Amino acid sequence: MTKGTFPIDKLKGIETPFYYYDMELLKKTLKIVKEETKKYGFIQHYAVKANANRRILEVIATEGFGADCVSGNEVKAAMAAGFPASKIVFAGVGKTDKEINVALDYNIFCFNVESLPELEVINELAAKKGKLAQVALRINPNVDAHTHEYITTGLSENKFGFNMNHLDKVIEKIGTLKNISLIGIHFHIGSQIEDVTTFAPLCARVNELQKFFEERGIQLPHINLGGGLGIDYEDPTAHPISDFVAYFELFHKNLQLRDGQTAHFELGRCIVAQCGALMTKVTYVKEGENKKFAILDAGMTDLIRPALYQAYHKIENISSDLPVQKYDVVGPICESSDTFAKDYELNETKRGDLIALRSAGAYGEIMASQYNCREIPKAYFSDKI
Ligand code: PLP
Repeated sequence: MTKGTFPIDKLKGIETPFYYYDMELLKKTLKIVKEETKKYGFIQHYAVKANANRRILEVIATEGFGADCVSGNEVKAAMAAGFPASKIVFAGVGKTDKEINVALDYNIFCFNVESLPELEVINELAAKKGKLAQVALRINPNVDAHTHEYITTGLSENKFGFNMNHLDKVIEKIGTLKNISLIGIHFHIGSQIEDVTTFAPLCARVNELQKFFEERGIQLPHINLGGGLGIDYEDPTAHPISDFVAYFELFHKNLQLRDGQTAHFELGRCIVAQCGALMTKVTYVKEGENKKFAILDAGMTDLIRPALYQAYHKIENISSDLPVQKYDVVGPICESSDTFAKDYELNETKRGDLIALRSAGAYGEIMASQYNCREIPKAYFSDKI
């Protein structure tokens, strides 16, 4: 595995920890996604939850993507960054009245609705504003994403979406709601899915459900397949871009789309993860009883994924080419879970070395917290340093 190529002279003077984004890689990734979706007439919405940094959002909006939001503030952030309301979808199991009103005021493209009471509330709030809200039903397809349990969302035991057995009741209800227009169905089975064939059973389920709706006289113009395509956390330098070719081809081959029907996607992680790294310095190297600790100035407050779901991030000492030694790589936070990796082979490390935690562009900066009264890390961009 080769190390990433970081502009170390430019980076070493910046106060750590900070996020560093390779904008060339982001743009290359966006270009490939655009090419592959264009082949099949698919529509791509970027999942804002993965990274809502204003500059990142602006670049993605400029490339013509729509936005997939899961809160009223994400809808506002997407609008402020230049995503047109006509390309914004809004999912989430617990949308509040305030959030729904924000989205109604902007006239977003579609609410991805997850329960009957939510449908009723959107109808009621839309009626008060004299509007017709476009909705898609998020259906829980009971398809196993074969990923970490915390990022599996499409099993019937998960909190997301409508249970398939309840759909007749839902359709009946929608018939009575005057300020709701049903325009589609929506799915999202999970995240960090590395084997694209995992999505084949989802396509089969969508094909079945299409028939179910048609038998009830309902044509759906939009099918939203969610996100979930994984990235290579082990070797980001060798595989900086996910296999979008195979991913979109699988949907093209397996989905039975009707004439005029549009397939939408809302990828997050695989768009932004590889372009971001958390840059941090070694504060101390400490000898333990049988091990050494490399204590960084970044902690779980800056990148929570390892503490939250035992996630792996490749760690590189970009200041050293000395032979590797094993370290427990830890942060300064007063929690034992503030550990990035155990027995990890790093080029021999000393105080002040610059360390890169790779593949941190997704679910990194956006999940930063101020626990221990820490500062939120700043962001720097390769084309502006
Ligand atoms: N769509 C929905 C509804 C989601 O909940 C998520 C992530 O949780 C995504 C899209 C983006 O998923 P990913 O970042 O894995 O592509």
